Amino acid sequence: MEALVDSFGRVHSDLRVSLTDKCNLRCTYCMPAEGLDWMPAAEMLSDDELVRVIGVAVRDLGITEVRLTGGEPLLRRGLVDLVRRLADLRPRPKLSMTTNGIGLAKVVEALAVAGLDRVNVSLDTLDRETFVTLSRRDRLDDVLAGLDGARDFGLVPVKVNTVLMRGVNDHEALDLLHYCLERQLSLRFIEQMPLDAQHGWDRSIMVTAEEIQSLLASQHALTPVGGRGSSPAEEFYVDGGPATVGIIASVSRPFCGSCDRVRLTADGQIRNCLFAREESDLRAAVRAGADDAEIAHRFRVSIAGKRAGHGIDDPTFLQPDRPMSAIGG
Ligand code: SAM
Repeated sequence: MEALVDSFGRVHSDLRVSLTDKCNLRCTYCMPAEGLDWMPAAEMLSDDELVRVIGVAVRDLGITEVRLTGGEPLLRRGLVDLVRRLADLRPRPKLSMTTNGIGLAKVVEALAVAGLDRVNVSLDTLDRETFVTLSRRDRLDDVLAGLDGARDFGLVPVKVNTVLMRGVNDHEALDLLHYCLERQLSLRFIEQMPLDAQHGWDRSIMVTAEEIQSLLASQHALTPVGGRGSSPAEEFYVDGGPATVGIIASVSRPFCGSCDRVRLTADGQIRNCLFAREESDLRAAVRAGADDAEIAHRFRVSIAGKRAGHGIDDPTFLQPDRPMSAIGG
């Protein structure tokens, strides 16, 4: 095994795999009300193709963590079986999933038994009306049930991801923190990034990490945990700990220098960065009969071309053509 190292010496051990570009929410900051043109089924990697490619990644490239995402990964047919097959891979990767939580309560036990280790659940508001306005669907109770189910079936730590938006849900930062603290959920606030399908992101109104920190500090003592490693979140002990809250300052304090992530889209494209403008067509290679060495080589070439940073602050920055839902957040 030879680690997946880029030209800046960053070792890549975390593979984020999108299982579908479809979603059952229509969050205003992610996609338009009518949805998007979904990928045709034939263009998506099959379960066999996924297991094979991920198998190469854990065996030959040093991938130790596989995060299933989307779109909404719970919409993938046969998900439990796929998780079981991924848990059978050797070396056994850590398996986690990023989900909106809808329908999670019903399948969480089966997912845990199949080998899923952990989940991240997205939750931007605790207010039903705001949830409907933000996501254009009336599903808050489903998400909250999913969160409780994930904790009860041991998919811990259950991390909650929140994007704060000015005038929409930024007044809920403390309520969300208290909700999570009471339920042993690990909350992380994420700065909004320029990845929406509508290209409506505006840095000047983005709620910054600094603002989030001062909102939280207005009622709680926050002490840096330190030892962040490659984690995107800066973690803080709340009122001396042991509970923590995280802030992911992707825009205002980028952490590209310690990035250890590589992505595979549902249609089989390797992306070396969320904001990459080039992709490597692994699906075409696999379907043309590539052997395992060729698959590993494709990952290595992609990572060798990884840039130092996402460049959001660079005047020449261009938002990627794919929206977040088609990349895999
Ligand atoms: N459907 C799953 C979910 O909701 O977690 C997985 C995919 S979703 C794209 C992953 C995460 O990306 C969610 O937490 C969502 O809030 C976040 N997200 C989407 N668009 C974003 C943006 N422009 N900036 C920051 N986070 C974003």
